[in-house]
Amino acid sequence: MTDRVKIFDTTLRDGEQAPGFSMSAGQKLAMAEALEGLRVDVIEAGFAAASPGDFEGIKAIAEMVTEATVCSLARCNEGDIRASGEAIKPARSGRIHTFIATSPLHREFKLKMDKDEIVRRAIAAIELARQYTDDVEFSCEDAIRTERDYLKRVVEAAIQAGASTINIPDTVGYTTPEEITDLFQFLTTEVEGADDVIFSAHCHDDLGLAVANSLAAVRGGARQVECALNGIGERAGNCAMEEVVMALRTRRDFFGIDTRVRTEGIYGASKLLAAITGNAVPRNKAIVGKNAFAHESGIHQHGVLANRETYEIMKPEHVGVSTDNLVLGKHSGRAALKNRAEKLGFTLSDNQLQSIFVAFKELADAKKEVFDSDIEALVLGEAVGSVGPWEIESLYVSAGSDEHRMPKATVALKHKDGRTQTHVSEMAGPMNAVFDAISRITDTPMTLEHYAVTSVSGGEDAMAEATVRVATEFETYQGRGASTDTVLASARAYLDVINRVERRTVRQASIAAQH
Ligand code: MN
Repeated sequence: MTDRVKIFDTTLRDGEQAPGFSMSAGQKLAMAEALEGLRVDVIEAGFAAASPGDFEGIKAIAEMVTEATVCSLARCNEGDIRASGEAIKPARSGRIHTFIATSPLHREFKLKMDKDEIVRRAIAAIELARQYTDDVEFSCEDAIRTERDYLKRVVEAAIQAGASTINIPDTVGYTTPEEITDLFQFLTTEVEGADDVIFSAHCHDDLGLAVANSLAAVRGGARQVECALNGIGERAGNCAMEEVVMALRTRRDFFGIDTRVRTEGIYGASKLLAAITGNAVPRNKAIVGKNAFAHESGIHQHGVLANRETYEIMKPEHVGVSTDNLVLGKHSGRAALKNRAEKLGFTLSDNQLQSIFVAFKELADAKKEVFDSDIEALVLGEAVGSVGPWEIESLYVSAGSDEHRMPKATVALKHKDGRTQTHVSEMAGPMNAVFDAISRITDTPMTLEHYAVTSVSGGEDAMAEATVRVATEFETYQGRGASTDTVLASARAYLDVINRVERRTVRQASIAAQH
């Protein structure tokens, strides 16, 4: 048994497949880079057979990642296994993760297969997967609700067939800590061949127990935990990676085992994921929430000033939360910006630094002091990758309480093909007018589902960050924009969505043209 817990990150598979969390290929690649920077052991990059886009996404990640193992999910059938095998081919270290349901409910109503048939399918899939890689993981879907003797039989057959990781998922988030500890103890001691494989836990948070159950599985002998950043995933989500990692580290005295995660990168990676998917992290979220290291009450502040450990069990800097909030200004140079971004957990390529530096100079001209949170917003804005084809040429809005005049927005947009178009909209609300003008110029009808503006940093000249969620006829998109001007930030967020829709349409048209 290994002396540490492997972190199997499924942000890009289980997380990405949850409604409202889908990412483009480029965004998945940026997230994979962040996960590699965190030193997770395995990146589950997608489900190769799901779509050509998934396949290409996994392949691109396999080509880029050098340290972590890159994994693709596959059902126990030939097409899925072969697609996964091809997708992970470029990886330095590649894994196929194949699964089949084993519980009575799934056997009878979903698969309509008997016990023997399922064992046969599992064996055939694992043997085929082994033709592509030595690193094969097998999951008994809905393992928690599977009869123990049958679970043991399937697992033994899987080990015999060549699986080296055995995953025992709580697919429906049903188990409790005591129960799962006991199950892992049973499997790691009773299963023939148990010493030669790693047992893995995959817990869902339907009862809010995913992290507790994953830790309990480790107590029972699990040496791999499947988890996702910010706890994203199907339904209530997966075990939150930042929580399980920091629990093992902070309570090493209790668990006696750790991971190899570079925890200083956690906060940056969490922020990046939130920006890319447009799903903000709740303020009170453990480890990565805005309040996780804030001390507001007088008694707490007094204690922390005397000795931080009175109310802090972890150091904020250990998860990459900056506490010194150094200020940069318009005379700060490229090196200072790069250094600051790195302190905040972001690694910038020369190209990224160049474009962020330009935005930084503009911002430093608009406001005197540039705080860490401003820099974070610039980096995330760049990472979200909202480049063209449309950009805002000019924007003017009038609004107020004069009942004889409607709020009015005059918007001019420039397309990268050179044309500029202007539209004037009068609507009941000023933001409605802005969004309407953008929709009309770009000929993209959309329904606004959610719109929020928050202040990125303190002070009168603080930067505003706007997020929108918008539905088109076919899909829901999230957009983000930042500026010292609230209206401009909002317009940018809306245009971010328009650009995503247009890029997607262009991509689909080019795929269609190939056929
Ligand atoms: Mn799952």
